[in-house]
Amino acid sequence: MTKTRKYKQMKLIDNFNRVHDYLRISLTDKCNLNCIYCNPDHHIHFGFNNDKILSYEEILKIIRIFAGSLQFKKIRFTGGEPLVRRGVFDLFEKVKKIKDEFDIQFGITTNGTLLKGNALRLKNSGIEKLNISLDSLQREKFLKITGRDNLQDVLDAINESEAAGFNPVKINVVVIRNINDNEILDFVEFVKDRNLNIRFIEFMPFGNNQWQRDGFISYKEMKDIIESEYILNPLYSDVSDVAKDFSISGFKGKVSFVTSMSEHFCNTCSRLRISADGKMRVCLFSTGKEEINFKTLLRNNYSETEIIELVHSAIKYKWEKHPEPEELAKLEQNNMLTIGG
Ligand code: SAM
Repeated sequence: MTKTRKYKQMKLIDNFNRVHDYLRISLTDKCNLNCIYCNPDHHIHFGFNNDKILSYEEILKIIRIFAGSLQFKKIRFTGGEPLVRRGVFDLFEKVKKIKDEFDIQFGITTNGTLLKGNALRLKNSGIEKLNISLDSLQREKFLKITGRDNLQDVLDAINESEAAGFNPVKINVVVIRNINDNEILDFVEFVKDRNLNIRFIEFMPFGNNQWQRDGFISYKEMKDIIESEYILNPLYSDVSDVAKDFSISGFKGKVSFVTSMSEHFCNTCSRLRISADGKMRVCLFSTGKEEINFKTLLRNNYSETEIIELVHSAIKYKWEKHPEPEELAKLEQNNMLTIGG
């Protein structure tokens, strides 16, 4: 049997026996916000030109390969900010067909600033899962963190998305000491009577984001702050989930923690990433040794079987776990905007 035929219709498994079935696709490396923890040096990064990024047609081809031959179960669109890309809602409508054809779930992660007025359209498209990033409930602080005075737009988008029926709307909060740690309890109150899931995310280091140990707050510390006021009841999570989930008696909303640094979940990692310019990364923090470029492959007419073979070879480069935060902070070429969060 040839190597190519061997790989046809085979799950994607790495050297540590981890099955990969979750793909995150960055639709653009451009963003309309300049969050202090993501793109503090915004003057050095203006985004790729359109011919440098995957076209929607190419993205749909990639999705079909992953949903079909590679048997992926989840795809999430991210960025940069996915909603700044022109025509993006048409893409979301097109994936509905793929969702119906394969057993696959689509989601997006957005800063929510451009969602107002479009939440129902999004809900009626192929997108089932919605994460909205929001790091402060205070107007001045939102401006300080993001560089834009858009808090009300994001709050309106959250209201609209909840009403549109996203179940639940997940709210991503990156917690940084002396920036927004004093709002942890406000965020918990925010979900009391609402179908929202607040997710407190540990601050992660990237080469360009001036991460410092002083700014880092661990999951345990966040949890202690919440438990000074509320009782958190652990909820069952699927092994592939990255969040630790909790309910609070009498609360409609849920509270979760994404503990990428203090209690990493590399041992159950099922994710691959494709950047806006088509590069596949096997880990958010990988240095690119494994990189294959879908833009080059598709524009040079590689067949689906050849592409599948290359993906199977690349996954063997995945490390068992990512290095410690101080080491990650030194990886200059890594940044969230190009890799896609
Ligand atoms: N623009 C979209 C947004 O704001 O949600 C999608 C891209 S953003 C890079 C994806 C997620 O990564 C957001 O929830 C953001 O807060 C998170 N993120 C970015 N930099 C991070 C960091 N250094 N540590 C932890 N989370 C980070």
